Amino acid sequence: EVKKNGRNDYQFFSDDLNGQIMEQLELESDLRKGLARGEFTVHYQPQIRTADNERIIGVEALVRWNHPVKGLLGPGLFIPAAEVTGRIVELGNFVLREACRQMRQWHDAGGPRIPVAVNLSSQQFLQYNLLEDIRDILRETGLAPEYLELEITESTMMDASRASAILNDLVKSGVRISLDDFGTGYSSLGYLKLYPIHKVKIDRSFISGISGSSHDRAIVATILTMAEHLGMQVIAEGIETKEQLDILVESGCRDIQGYYYSKPLAAEELERKYLWPAEAVGKIV
Ligand code: C2E
Ligand code: MG
Ligand code: MG
Ligand code: MG
Repeated sequence: EVKKNGRNDYQFFSDDLNGQIMEQLELESDLRKGLARGEFTVHYQPQIRTADNERIIGVEALVRWNHPVKGLLGPGLFIPAAEVTGRIVELGNFVLREACRQMRQWHDAGGPRIPVAVNLSSQQFLQYNLLEDIRDILRETGLAPEYLELEITESTMMDASRASAILNDLVKSGVRISLDDFGTGYSSLGYLKLYPIHKVKIDRSFISGISGSSHDRAIVATILTMAEHLGMQVIAEGIETKEQLDILVESGCRDIQGYYYSKPLAAEELERKYLWPAEAVGKIV
C-alpha cells in the first residue's frame, strides 16, 4: 500500500498513514487473538436449483468474525489484512475444518447429501502445505472429498504452471474446483481448457445489470454456452430479484445463489430453513 503513493513517499510518516499503520498493526494482533479465542464463525449461503422444485444443491461457507468490540464483521473487513500478515493460512484452515466438520455432521444427521464450497485465497492456494492440510482436514472430519468444493478466482491462477500442478493434485485427491467471480479477472478462456475446473460461478457484477443491459445478458449467455461445451457446471451469484431470476432461467441457468433466495445464514438457521424444513413448519409431516 505504501508503494501506491509513488512520488508521495514523503507522506510515509503523515498522520494519516501513521494512523493506517497503527490500525493494521492492531488488526493483526486482533486477528491473532481472535483465532486463539475462537471468535471466527462460518455462515452458509444456500445454492438453489430452480428447475428441481427449488431444491438446495449446496452451500457456500463464508467466514465472519465475532469481534468482541466491533461486533459481527464480514470478510471484506479482515481477509485483506489476514492475507498481508500471513494469518490467512491459519484462518483458511479454520474455515475448511469447520465447514467440513459441519457438512459431515449434517450428512450424519440425515440432511441432504450436498457439498460445501470453501473460498481459498491466492496465498492459501499457493502455500506448500495446502494439499496435505486438506487431506488432513478431510480425514479428521470424515467428509468424503467429493463433498468439498474449493473456490478459487482467476487471479489465483496467474502463475499458470504452478496453478495447474496444484489443481491437478487437488482434483486427484477427489475434491472439486469452482472458479469464483468468473468474468472479472484475467479471464483467459485458455484457463478453462487447461485446468480441471468443474464449475464456474458467474460474477454478481454481470447479474446486477442483467435486466437493463443486453450486454450483460450476452455475457451471461456466452458463459453458459461455453461451460456447456466444456462440460462444466454453472451457477449464477448475486441474484436479488425475481426479474433477474427469470432472465437467468430463460437463458438456461438453473443454479442460483443470491439474496433472492437467502443471505448467508448461521448454521442453525440454515438447518431450520433449508435442511430440515419440515421441522421448521412444525405441523406438516
Ligand atoms: P464470494 O466468494 O464471491 O462470496 C459471495 C459474496 O457475495 C458473499 O459476501 C455473499 O454474502 C455475497 N452475496 C451473495 N448473494 C448476494 C446478493 O444477492 N447480493 C449481494 N449484494 N451480495 C451477495 P461476503 O460473505 O461478505 O464475502 C465476501 C468475499 O469474501 C467472498 O466473495 C470471498 O471472496 C471472501 N471470503 C469469504 N469467506 C472467505 C473465506 O473463508 N476465505 C477466504 N479466503 N475468502 C473468503
Ligand atoms: Mg466464493
Ligand atoms: Mg464470488
Ligand atoms: Mg470474491
